[in-house]
Amino acid sequence: MDVFTPEERSYVMSKIHGKDTRGEVLVRKSLFSLGFRFRKNDKRYPGRPDIVLPKYHAVIFVNGCFWHGHEGCRHFVMPQSEFWKEKIEKNKERDERNIASLIASGWRVIVIWECTLGRKEDFISLIQALADEIRKGKNSYVSFPDDEVRSGNEPGISPDC
Ligand SMILES: [Zn+2]
Repeated sequence: MDVFTPEERSYVMSKIHGKDTRGEVLVRKSLFSLGFRFRKNDKRYPGRPDIVLPKYHAVIFVNGCFWHGHEGCRHFVMPQSEFWKEKIEKNKERDERNIASLIASGWRVIVIWECTLGRKEDFISLIQALADEIRKGKNSYVSFPDDEVRSGNEPGISPDC
């Protein structure tokens, strides 16, 4: 049985089908204004990354916390229904496979969880950190927030992701 109300359900479905979710648009616009040039939703790459920066060998995924199952995030609670649980587990496995194969082909993978795109002042420092990472980062995988810091009650996290 579906645990969602019709409103919740249509919200989730819109997340699935929407190609330009708000977070992606914000991040793209910010990077563009900083002079970065990129491709978007390029089908040639595993997982069709939201942003592909060939010059920096970097790809960016902007992930909705619910749909991609952001563990430890207070905006994500695993649904009780098997139907949704299974869907989200599958998405997570697929994300992991895509990330692994991108890294194997020499790409650096940056994941931005939508819960980091909240307040304006936080957003600006996020974009600065992101630009820094794109230009100088050496890690093959980085996430915002950092995977280690994501479990707490960090202040300033957006309630609307
Ligand atoms: Zn999150």
